[in-house]
Amino acid sequence: MNATQSIFQPLEKILKKIDQHIFTFINDLTVDIWKTKEPVPYTDRKTGEHKTLSLGDQWGDLFDCAWMRFTGEVPANISGEKIVCIIDISGEANVVDENGHPKSCLTTRYSKFGPINMDYEGRPVKKIVPIVEKCVGGESLDFWADAGNNDLFGNFQNNGVLVEAYVAIQNQVTYDLYYDFEVLLDLCIHIEPDSDRYDELYIALEKASKLLENFNDNSVLEAREILSVELKKENKEETLLVSASGHAHIDLAWLWPIRETIRKGARTFSHALQLMDEYDDYVFGASQPQLYQWMKDKYPELYDRVKVAIKNNRWEPLGGMWVESDTNIPNGESLVRQFLYGKAFFKKEFGHELKNLFLPDVFGYSGAIPQIMKKSGVDYFTTIKLSWDKFVRYPHETFFWQGIDGSKVLVHMPPEGTYNGPAAPRALKRLEANYQDKDTTKHALMIYGVGDGGGGPSRDHLERLKRSANLDGISKVKHAFISDFFETLEKDGDKFQTWVGELYLGHHQGTLTTQGKSKWFNRKLEFAFRDLEYSSILSQLFSGSVYPGKEIEDMWKEVLLYQFHDIIPGSSIKRVYDESFPRYEAMMKETRKLANSAWDTLSTTINTSEFANPVLVRNTLSWERHEWLKLDENWKMVTIPSMGYSVIESRFKDSSKFFIKATETSIENDILKVVFDGNGTIISIFDKEQNREVLAENQVGNDITVYEDGGDAWDFPVDYRGNIAGQFELKKSNYFTDGPKAVMCQERKFGSSTLTQDIVLIEGSRKLDFITHVDWKEDDKMLRTSFSVDIHATEYTSEIQFGHVKRPTHSNTQWEFRQFENAAHKWVDLSQPDYGVALMNDCKYGHYVKGNVLDINLLRSPNWPDPTADRSEHDFTYSLFPHRGNHIQGEVVKNAYELNVLLDTYSLKSQSGELPPNWSFLSMDCDNVVVSSVKKAEDGNGIIVRLYEAFGQNNQAILTFGIDIKKALLTNLIEDKIEDLSVETNTITVPFKPFEIQTIRII
Ligand SMILES: [Zn+2]
Repeated sequence: MNATQSIFQPLEKILKKIDQHIFTFINDLTVDIWKTKEPVPYTDRKTGEHKTLSLGDQWGDLFDCAWMRFTGEVPANISGEKIVCIIDISGEANVVDENGHPKSCLTTRYSKFGPINMDYEGRPVKKIVPIVEKCVGGESLDFWADAGNNDLFGNFQNNGVLVEAYVAIQNQVTYDLYYDFEVLLDLCIHIEPDSDRYDELYIALEKASKLLENFNDNSVLEAREILSVELKKENKEETLLVSASGHAHIDLAWLWPIRETIRKGARTFSHALQLMDEYDDYVFGASQPQLYQWMKDKYPELYDRVKVAIKNNRWEPLGGMWVESDTNIPNGESLVRQFLYGKAFFKKEFGHELKNLFLPDVFGYSGAIPQIMKKSGVDYFTTIKLSWDKFVRYPHETFFWQGIDGSKVLVHMPPEGTYNGPAAPRALKRLEANYQDKDTTKHALMIYGVGDGGGGPSRDHLERLKRSANLDGISKVKHAFISDFFETLEKDGDKFQTWVGELYLGHHQGTLTTQGKSKWFNRKLEFAFRDLEYSSILSQLFSGSVYPGKEIEDMWKEVLLYQFHDIIPGSSIKRVYDESFPRYEAMMKETRKLANSAWDTLSTTINTSEFANPVLVRNTLSWERHEWLKLDENWKMVTIPSMGYSVIESRFKDSSKFFIKATETSIENDILKVVFDGNGTIISIFDKEQNREVLAENQVGNDITVYEDGGDAWDFPVDYRGNIAGQFELKKSNYFTDGPKAVMCQERKFGSSTLTQDIVLIEGSRKLDFITHVDWKEDDKMLRTSFSVDIHATEYTSEIQFGHVKRPTHSNTQWEFRQFENAAHKWVDLSQPDYGVALMNDCKYGHYVKGNVLDINLLRSPNWPDPTADRSEHDFTYSLFPHRGNHIQGEVVKNAYELNVLLDTYSLKSQSGELPPNWSFLSMDCDNVVVSSVKKAEDGNGIIVRLYEAFGQNNQAILTFGIDIKKALLTNLIEDKIEDLSVETNTITVPFKPFEIQTIRII
């Protein structure tokens, strides 16, 4: 105990004493429950297992549900008093009205979590149900609540028992005294101890305490009198102007399943509305259209009340993205759809044009985001999470953020460093102390309320704010919308500094790898949707099929939901993945079915009359592809036009001669020779064309290593490279050639896990593929592979959405050191001017590139929160790609796309038709522009083609279409017109700045 603590201890004791006198017990409640495993609607409330509970009875197991009926009465001899019920069921509940509509929320038993502890956050328990302001005596009480046997964080608390259920008088004067005392005491504890204000506060509190030693109606009134003098002292100094926004951070799944999130939404939203009725100036902000959509579908009456609150300017829709998505793993098109569907929802439902991106809790922010925001009409960004960086502190809380293309948005990170603030004087003092830009602007944001598991502000928060709005000793604070805050902040805009590039978080890098299947499904579906939308457009254009817009939108929204910042990062409990994986599987099937049906119809319009056994080969990528293809056991080199197809004869005589060689210790094509040692490790990759060795001297490639990893889903040890658990040992290998393919097959074992790889070289290709199958059974281990290459460079390049970023290969500073694991999409590349090596993948994200080592994180197996995470079979492919020049001269972008998007074949009948046997929907005169998406316009008018500049240079791209175009417009990402483009014989010229995304509507 320190000196300060001991001074305040008697005062804290008095505060506790006041608390104990707020409620007077007057009667017990009778509690009947009907228990079910899963939630049932109000109309079925009596279908579960019925029980009458006594205090101390366990009512269920973790995540059990129950409809609870509370009955009781106000004794006849009590009148004129404010009556409440006090209920603690060890879980959460939503109190409903007589029609079953949500009214208010109970959350009890709070688990400790996060960087700021529970003591800081205050009293986040909600257990009061208001009954009547002035009773007459003899009232009978009868109400229902929809309960869940989990605490705010999905934990089973207190053995799931009924703790409290009674009727009480709320002694209003004592209640008010409690907050008077609490606010002044909190201010006194956190203010400078040698100030006059400290002395005034301390003397007043001590005086009040003395009086309250004899606790009665008179001493309570007198104590309030004394404290009111201090509460009335206004802030006269020029301090900060703090905008306070009530909020409930709701993880859409995390330590609880999605079904519980929907109930958390109803509890949180109804409670916010109830507090709005009680506190006139209270405003609340809620993010994530997905959550609103659930409320609309499941709780329409509640949703209508939210709509009214929005209309009355009491409730602020926040966000702009469909969910608070991860931004490292989703691809560019996914991020665009997050904004497209998110903004459209708020506009359609509430008439709101969202201008503020709200991602308080996401694990680092991609450098692609500012451009996507700007081109979606979103100018402001709020986050908290960067304050969690374990190694460094960002230099500003208010700044402009410039993305990889040069777009700038205004960022504010509430200086208190939490989105779960207590709205107490200590919060304002912390904010004042932390704010690094307070000399530049007086404006700051405070986000308060119980969060992560929902809940939001309680009466505690609002009582504190009522007393702190203009109080001598702390900054002025007012209830405000975040959008209004930004409009004020922007007026000081010319003074703010600019941060360039990604907003990296030096924390939670394990989430780039954990729950690898989640990432695999996401990557596969992103490309499958791209194919489906494009195929459906062609089918509609040429055979008049109906574009499956509704099906596509529904599936997109579900994939966007799973990109939520605790689902795709792999940080949720097992049930979340047990539910999402089968849904991903079903969506893969549905996507394939719809795409096949599009080609079934489309293919009848293709002229194949000159072929005896025609086969259609499709290329959905936006450049011409030359590849070896195996048809009926014969290999053929095919050339398929950009975003098009070729019909070829499937039965042909194979006359090709291949250079390919494979031996016990090597595979070789016309460009590369790969040599293995007795353990199957690669000891040489010789580039015959460039006459150079790819690997560094005496170093190896494909060094498959298992590391000790005692971390959780989020984090693994920084020093893991010094802690090797072992190597996957070679058990068996064989080799073969097949046409243009030379293959080395290896079977490896580590512990009880097995790993098999086909290591493949194809004639004419610089890509060395590692087609991998792992049966992973380890606990607390991490599987990685690395290549030590003969390249010297101080920075390397990582692909991100719509472009790339450069990162250091060294750790001179703490800022560089903390980047021991980085997110990259399909490739990372280490190049010197004459030569480089890329490491590509088809579903992985975590990379380590330091010195001359290219290393990729393949699998982890943390024990929390899902103790079975990743212990299963996995398929993935990575490729080493040595090349001439840097990644641009070496065509890394194209080759990585081709690893992810294979040519597709489709058998046809011999027939006549309108479309020629070789056709391209769209071709371009340049190789730095990539088509990200071809889809139907959201409003149904025309086709949307989205492209991006992939190298970081200026360009005028000439786009030639294989269809008749009457009109073309340049639009933003949410498909609003920017300007007309001139069309000349189905050709359009589109200007690009470095990494620019351009969206075109063609009609
Ligand atoms: Zn969160």
